[in-house]
Amino acid sequence: MSTGRGEDYDVVIIGGALAGAAAATLLLREQPGLRVLILEKSTAFTRRVGEATVEISADFLGRVLGLTQHLNEAHLVKQGMRFWFSNDRAATLAGCSEFGGLYNARVPAYQVDRAILDEEVLRRAVVAGAELWRPASVTRVGLLPGGTQTLAVRSGTETRDVRARWVIDASGVAALLARQEHWWQSNHEHPTASVWSRWRGVKDWDGLELAQKFPEWAKACHGVRGTATNHFTGDGWWAWCIPLKGGDVSVGVVFDQRLVQWPEGGSLGQRLKDFLCAHPAGKELMADAQWIEGDVHWRKNLAYSCTTHAGDGFVLVGDAAGFMDPLYSPGMDWVSFTVTCAVNLVLAQQRGEAVAPLVDRHNTDFRRSYARWAEAIYHGKYQYIGEYDLMCLAFLLDLGLYYIGVASQPFKRGVAGLREPVFTTKPSVPFYHLMRTYNRRFARIAQARRGRGKLARMNHGRRFMFGGYTFAPSSGRPILRALWRWGLLELQEGWRTWFRPGTANESLPVEVAKTKPAVYEMKTVGHP
Ligand SMILES: Cc1cc2nc3c(=O)[nH]c(=O)nc-3n(C[C@H](O)[C@H](O)[C@H](O)COP(=O)(O)OP(=O)(O)OC[C@H]3O[C@@H](n4cnc5c(N)ncnc54)[C@H](O)[C@@H]3O)c2cc1C
Repeated sequence: MSTGRGEDYDVVIIGGALAGAAAATLLLREQPGLRVLILEKSTAFTRRVGEATVEISADFLGRVLGLTQHLNEAHLVKQGMRFWFSNDRAATLAGCSEFGGLYNARVPAYQVDRAILDEEVLRRAVVAGAELWRPASVTRVGLLPGGTQTLAVRSGTETRDVRARWVIDASGVAALLARQEHWWQSNHEHPTASVWSRWRGVKDWDGLELAQKFPEWAKACHGVRGTATNHFTGDGWWAWCIPLKGGDVSVGVVFDQRLVQWPEGGSLGQRLKDFLCAHPAGKELMADAQWIEGDVHWRKNLAYSCTTHAGDGFVLVGDAAGFMDPLYSPGMDWVSFTVTCAVNLVLAQQRGEAVAPLVDRHNTDFRRSYARWAEAIYHGKYQYIGEYDLMCLAFLLDLGLYYIGVASQPFKRGVAGLREPVFTTKPSVPFYHLMRTYNRRFARIAQARRGRGKLARMNHGRRFMFGGYTFAPSSGRPILRALWRWGLLELQEGWRTWFRPGTANESLPVEVAKTKPAVYEMKTVGHP
């Protein structure tokens, strides 16, 4: 369908990875005649982080994009999340405190190889009718709200202009439009950094070797541990261990730059391995593991947001619209919400609806969603990420409320559930306040423990094997039990900080957070 203004395209999409290709597919599904151009910088996708889906992103990939068969054939079915805690009394993997599912998960999720997945989503977008230029790099966008957008595109030695009624920015962490227009802002309250790689030779969690070495430990879980996202944790940091189809394993660390000093000296891969092996679970699993050369990466100041998400003629999706934290894998959930709403916006304009109120709503929703989501779940989290009892409670509450309030929505209401970003509806507001409150309280309690030298006391010899959540009302029970236990915790220990003013991040040096905005770095060309 032409806009009738003589533009080259109706929609040009910057970036052909998951967010961009998904947007093209959904646009063309609704309006097959739309002239959609995808501009992708790379000649082929390489592996990258963003490998664990959770329930929303699994629903988006599987049911909305129709990829379930591909996910089952080319990737792994994920078995929930498991966490491993240690202290100086946890000498072995079996001695670590653990929580996770007793059985396998019941709502689908996947561990995906992004090089393969994104290539498949892009292939399908082209089959659906999108035109693809690759490699083609957008160097500048000229915005004209309500008019024609102009993009300067470099392909090889040639640069040419492309015109379109709409630009969808799916350029990921490059966040082309937001940086160009100065909408991009670092999230100073949450200065995390990450170092990661893909590995060969990581031990089999469910194999005979560990079962023979730790028979009681092996029997304690009735499901599969190895295809979960396993998290090793410590004070101010956590690491993920995500298996990929074919045997390679993605392992990386995320840390709060105010709490953890990343070790210096030696290759980045060796430092990552040494860091992981200081944890008994990491030591057991990673002892014979080797990082894949050329595939060791780091990035600092991970969290950022945008002050503007859309206008009449442009809209940001996926990482180009902001990033919070990798814990609980919200990245592809954010892709699911931003893409669904962006497609909605473009199609509404194409149908001739008034765009201004829709743009206003889009901006309000996503600014609010980011701010509330980051505050309710992530700000201050690294204060207590290494505390078994606090993380157990937070996990039960975070995950349970996610199941009831967020993940259940698209399963029950279809794609309409993805048109309401997290914490933007009225009924969600009390839950935002509840989550923000317990998250802050756990951070304060951990801070007080740190001050008294009492961190990590429950990090050995404890195991909480959880039955798992579903969308049934009975899933409310573990949430209520966790709230009750939080109340008890306040009476036993929390009172120490009731009347002491302060924030969840009090006592952390703010200078680190206010360092230069994140320089994104996808290659092994420098060290943190
Ligand atoms: C440490 C870490 C761990 C993470 N773990 C998870 C996880 O387990 N689960 C999860 O869901 N999310 C995770 N994420 C987030 C996840 O990686 C992203 O949310 C997701 O990849 C975003 O997809 P995207 O399509 O928006 O961007 P990208 O995947 O970054 O794709 C952007 C595309 O745009 C192209 N591009 C860029 N600039 C231009 C240009 N100028 N012209 C043309 N093309 C361009 C790039 O080549 C690229 O293909 C993690 C993030 C980090 C930092």
